[in-house]
Amino acid sequence: MVRTVAAQIEENIAAVRARIAAAAERAGRNPADVQIVAVTKTHGPEVILAAYEAGLRHFGENRVEEAEGKIAALRADLPPDGVWHMVGHIQSRKTADVAALFEWVHSVDRFKVARRLSEAAQRLGRTLEVLLEINLSGEKSKFGYDLSRWPDDAAQGEAFFAEVAHLLELPNLHWQGLMTMAPYTTDAETVRPIFRRLRLLREALRSRFPALDWPHLSMGMSGDFEVAVEEGATMVRIGTALFGPRT
Ligand SMILES: *Cc1c(COP(=O)(O)O)cnc(C)c1O
Repeated sequence: MVRTVAAQIEENIAAVRARIAAAAERAGRNPADVQIVAVTKTHGPEVILAAYEAGLRHFGENRVEEAEGKIAALRADLPPDGVWHMVGHIQSRKTADVAALFEWVHSVDRFKVARRLSEAAQRLGRTLEVLLEINLSGEKSKFGYDLSRWPDDAAQGEAFFAEVAHLLELPNLHWQGLMTMAPYTTDAETVRPIFRRLRLLREALRSRFPALDWPHLSMGMSGDFEVAVEEGATMVRIGTALFGPRT
């Protein structure tokens, strides 16, 4: 049974890697520039260990409560090169836990959370790798800085850039780029403009804040990661395509 699960995960990882490589090649990109973040929410340690055995090193969780026990248990069993990414919405009262558990945070969506993450990281003597979550679709169900009318609405961009200037002063956060969640769709092509706009926003950030490289675009999930890679994703957050449907 366990053997079968591990073999299936290994096969799924190979298939996802092949699809990423094909998408990267279509866009003239190097597949090595696309990191898989395996989203392991709802899955137990044996699944995560199997993914590690099969070569994955980056793991993502979306809820602090769930991640706490799991990451602690796995840190004991895994070699120390596993890297944990927080990809879900963060409540400000959970920032100290997030700073202690994760190396990367993809979901910084307001100043208060950023400030508290920086303060918690400082107390722990560490720096967090962070991404700004951006809402490009304007869906009310989505978190992130609202840039749903950018670039047409320049004022919306200016408000965001003013916030970024403020965020860059926080000492224990290392700004790595941008993250977005595209609307759910059965036709991945319809989300291409969303991914393209995240890339354009990164270009705008680079020209406003040239001291930073803003290297990462965290975009693309099981249903749309190939389109995201074609549009420049450097991190794809994938659960279902690796581990099957969540029960
Ligand atoms: C669950 C989740 C994913 C992965 O979704 P799949 O469709 O299962 O690949 C990616 N990003 C975030 C923020 C998630 O919560």
